Amino acid sequence: MKIAQSEKMFEQAAKVIPGGVNSPVRACRSVGCTPLFIERAEGATLYDVDGNSYVDFVCSWGPMILGHSHPQVVAAIRAAAGGGTSFGAPTPAEITLAEMVVEAVPSVEKVRFVNSGTEATMSAIRLARGVTGRKKVVKFDGCYHGHADSFLIKAGSGLLTLGIPGSPGVPEDIVKNTISLPYNDVNAVTQALDDEGHDVACVIIEPVAGNMGCVLPAPGFLAELRRLTAERGVLLIFDEVITGFRLAYGGAQELFGISPDLTCLGKIIGGGLPVGAYGGKAEIMDSIAPDGPVYQAGTLSGNPLAMAAGIATLRQLQQPGFYQELNDRATRCAERLREVAKRCGLPVQINGIGSMMTLFFCSDPVTDFTSAMRADTGLYAKHYRNMLSQGIYLAPSQFEVAFISAAHTPHDLEKLEKMTEWSFKNLA
Ligand code: PLP
Repeated sequence: MKIAQSEKMFEQAAKVIPGGVNSPVRACRSVGCTPLFIERAEGATLYDVDGNSYVDFVCSWGPMILGHSHPQVVAAIRAAAGGGTSFGAPTPAEITLAEMVVEAVPSVEKVRFVNSGTEATMSAIRLARGVTGRKKVVKFDGCYHGHADSFLIKAGSGLLTLGIPGSPGVPEDIVKNTISLPYNDVNAVTQALDDEGHDVACVIIEPVAGNMGCVLPAPGFLAELRRLTAERGVLLIFDEVITGFRLAYGGAQELFGISPDLTCLGKIIGGGLPVGAYGGKAEIMDSIAPDGPVYQAGTLSGNPLAMAAGIATLRQLQQPGFYQELNDRATRCAERLREVAKRCGLPVQINGIGSMMTLFFCSDPVTDFTSAMRADTGLYAKHYRNMLSQGIYLAPSQFEVAFISAAHTPHDLEKLEKMTEWSFKNLA
């Protein structure tokens, strides 16, 4: 595999972009690789600047549930661009996408579009603080809710990959208002809410964690969170930036039958363009400016190209049987990978739900941050390099998710299984 062009570009990029990348995990440090510079992508295939091609299981970290360059999505973006790229004024497409979100996610009666998942979660906790008049936020170790100050405490994703507990630049005063608890630990939540509930504005959670690798909620955990928060007037926020429109059309909350007070969305609703959203009960959402006092705004919010890409994507997801088929294929793929691990005698845990999965190199079940941290990152790095050498593009970190898209063909999934077996046999 030749990567001379990528290496050259990485050097060039590092001169003008910190670390040569615009988001840290892309630098591929924890797997000891040079990041590949991508020229184009189609379906489930990425093409790099050196002319290599890869079956892509990163899917831009989640948005590309239909695969890359989906003809309808690209056509919608082209058509929208022809009419102008931004007006800073309301457009009909914003209503259409908002109506689609409200129809899909029953707990959402009103929704505000922003430009990223970070903006969505940051705005949602401001709103929670604004309506409750309380300061503290409860989150869970290993969950990632974007890079706003309040969330950079025992966070997953890039912080976990780089092994940093938080970030300089986040003032102590902010840190002390965030309580981070072990995922799946009802007792810890009960205790924290008993002790500090009067001052807690919200509990925010990834209903299926995707940022310490894929970690599922224990049976009943989300229902307990719903009960405990409702009892104490604490808002429950589901961060469905990954799971929204991924696990089901109505997201994780549809799957688990839980109705949070606020929901954060991103990734898929932008069809690959920068979009985030937060929504919930009208009585809460009406506290946002201009109707209410909680301020939040955005020059490019509701951008016409992003709205068009989101609408076109969601229309595809509405096709009958879409999720059934995608989830069945992904579940079968996860099962076959478990068989591969068994055949190879490797201590591997494969956590998966719907079209999300993580292969952890460890022998005990991964149910929270502590157990995720037991995974052998050195072995993952070798596996990553093995797979890349065989044309399989995985996330360059043990603590991320592999996404299956509707564009992955049976042949792509067979290749994943075959190459995984080859890699497992060549990990020494
Ligand atoms: N919330 C979750 C669950 C995420 O996975 C992410 C990003 O990966 C975010 C929030 C932040 O989204 P963005 O990167 O669009 O700011």
